[in-house]
Amino acid sequence: MANDKTWLERASAHMAAPNAAPIVVDYGRGSYLWDIEGRKYLDFSGGIGVNALGHAHPGVVAAISAQAARYCHTANHLYHRGYIELCERLCELSFGERVFLANSGTEANEAALKIARRHFFDHGEQRTEFVAAKKSFHGRTLGSLAATGQPAYWEGFGPLVPGFTHVAYGDLDALSQALGPATAAVILEPILGNAGVVVPPPGYFQAVRQRCDQAGCLLIVDEVQTGVGRTGKWFAHQYEGIEPDIMTLAKAVGGGLPLGAVVTTDTLAQIFKPGVHASTFGGNPVACAAGLATLRIIEEERLLENARTQGEHLLGRLRETARGRPCVQEVRGRGLMIGIELAGEAKSVQSAARNKGLLVTLAGKNVVRLLPPLNTSREEVEMAVKILDQALAFSQP
Ligand SMILES: *Cc1c(COP(=O)(O)O)cnc(C)c1O
Repeated sequence: MANDKTWLERASAHMAAPNAAPIVVDYGRGSYLWDIEGRKYLDFSGGIGVNALGHAHPGVVAAISAQAARYCHTANHLYHRGYIELCERLCELSFGERVFLANSGTEANEAALKIARRHFFDHGEQRTEFVAAKKSFHGRTLGSLAATGQPAYWEGFGPLVPGFTHVAYGDLDALSQALGPATAAVILEPILGNAGVVVPPPGYFQAVRQRCDQAGCLLIVDEVQTGVGRTGKWFAHQYEGIEPDIMTLAKAVGGGLPLGAVVTTDTLAQIFKPGVHASTFGGNPVACAAGLATLRIIEEERLLENARTQGEHLLGRLRETARGRPCVQEVRGRGLMIGIELAGEAKSVQSAARNKGLLVTLAGKNVVRLLPPLNTSREEVEMAVKILDQALAFSQP
């Protein structure tokens, strides 16, 4: 059937949420994307942290194709090798002893919250409450939405799941006061992502770990955005010298396909009696294959190291650029997770950058967030800095 409307007209006619940038993607290679009009973009939005290896990495494409040609889906009543291997691999790389696979970040967090409540229930303890951070982001299903510390995201969705208290991120006294005999767990991001790439004060996580132990509750770290090499270590909490009880992953862990993971201990995984918690699509074979290929390539191509060196360089160059520009409040981050906080709205800088061929994401109203692929090059970093330098001229103070 002929259709004489443009793709953007068709999007605004029938998509429930046609809120994207006015770009219709054609294809991607590495750090670059091309739209259907043939325009080329340097993609430092990284699919909001999903595309650890950029676009169409041949190793990931081969893994996906090979798995899709064997079978795409089994559901969780059968074992498959990719699921088993991915659980093994995530445990090797972390504190973890057992892993549950879901399809997204919000589902991984739902599972983590359920594990915490159910663990105490199984031990005859009345612990059903959670402490989370103000401005945190944990997802948009009702449990993870209640954990999310941003009232704007709650609007019109009440009543929220009860039992959540929010305290200022980085404030230990507030956290201690919020912990009580009914607290099941504290849930925190190692770096606030959605709220603007907020790095916690040194020693914060060690003290949080201590407070959780004293209070007898669990510590859940939400590494959905920070995990899988983003900050230059496999998992960002590994900078803090602590081990959580539960770690949630998604975004990059599926190599571009939908996958979430809950990494936990033998003890906590005891809740998983038959029928207690499950997912039809969770640990999908094609997603596991893409995820395993991604982990393998990060290791083979030494991309944690690259994330650290390119990240430091990018941070330093952006700070140079920011000097003498009163519109920039702060440039901060770790590895290849970087935020540029502006005095005014960041949207104008984002669209100016896009017009010059650079894609970035926003975090909140006034932070430009960069999440380039972990295999980005010095040349690409320099190009991004050059474009951002020009785009910052469009910042409204
Ligand atoms: C993106 C994100 C989520 C939600 O993940 P979805 O896959 O969109 O459900 C949860 N926590 C953090 C820290 C995130 O960045």
